[in-house]
Amino acid sequence: MHILVFVKQVPDASQVRVNYETGTLIREGVPAILNPFEEHAVEEAVRLKNEYGGKVTIITMGPPQASEALKQCLSRGADKAYLLSDRIFAGSDTLATSYALYEGARKIVDLEGDVDLFFAGKQAIDGDTAQTGPGIATRFNLPLITYLIKIDELNLEEKYVIATRLTEFGQETIKAPIPVFFTVEESLNILSHSPLPYLIKAEKAEIELLSGKNVPLDKEQCGLKHSPTMVKKAFTPEKRQRGATLSGTFDDVVSQTADKIAPFLKKVS
Ligand SMILES: Cc1cc2nc3c(=O)[nH]c(=O)nc-3n(C[C@H](O)[C@H](O)[C@H](O)COP(=O)(O)OP(=O)(O)OC[C@H]3O[C@@H](n4cnc5c(N)ncnc54)[C@H](O)[C@@H]3O)c2cc1C
Repeated sequence: MHILVFVKQVPDASQVRVNYETGTLIREGVPAILNPFEEHAVEEAVRLKNEYGGKVTIITMGPPQASEALKQCLSRGADKAYLLSDRIFAGSDTLATSYALYEGARKIVDLEGDVDLFFAGKQAIDGDTAQTGPGIATRFNLPLITYLIKIDELNLEEKYVIATRLTEFGQETIKAPIPVFFTVEESLNILSHSPLPYLIKAEKAEIELLSGKNVPLDKEQCGLKHSPTMVKKAFTPEKRQRGATLSGTFDDVVSQTADKIAPFLKKVS
């Protein structure tokens, strides 16, 4: 079984600031961490590998320092890690990012063989869009199970998975054919400690590099110029005022409420 996990290195959200003029995040000087949802994606991938056999490959798209996030995944028991890095990706929105990652993943399929299970986090804690995983799954035309909280059954012979996901109203257990794409919740599993041999292996591991030189890329789908998303304005929402407290008898409160909402009702009618 081959499992591919998409991981993102993100700025520690507690220390991020916004450049209000450009509408972008100020990442400089902010410590980078592995997006927390991916820690759980890698944990699950390694757990499944240990139970069913196979290998776990990791990919990230980012600058050279994103290798640190990859090493963290290797120290959790992943087998191989690829860094997709090229100047032509600069300024990519989620559409261009998912395109680049799709092409990177296709290259990994060429190099490492077909993938049975694809994992991504449910969202990145900086961009927060939750669009990249579904974007990649759509390009591969794969069944997509978002907000994964449990893999109930994995049948590699009959090529299906039964999995439980969170919904707005509760939980949903569904069956899907393999290959399948998951985006995961943190409640999927409890993180284990990296055993020493994994830590040593990760420290010595070579990160494989992917770029426009070895991945066939359509430049018309990469980077800021080909990213349709535009950030028009970035701002901190105004603090909401504390609501008024009305007192008196029930009738008093009703009449005070009616007085307060009357001006708004006039505007609507
Ligand atoms: C106009 C515009 C310009 C931008 N310019 C830049 C820029 O110059 N530099 C920059 O760093 N960002 C830039 N961004 C942000 C960038 O587009 C997003 O960070 C990226 O597309 C991922 O989206 P997200 O953070 O919302 O992740 P989500 O969609 O919330 O992530 C979901 C999951 O997808 C996977 N994933 C997401 N991103 C990656 C990745 N890079 N590698 C591997 N897996 C991933 C992870 O598993 C993650 O948990 C820009 C965004 C816009 C709109």
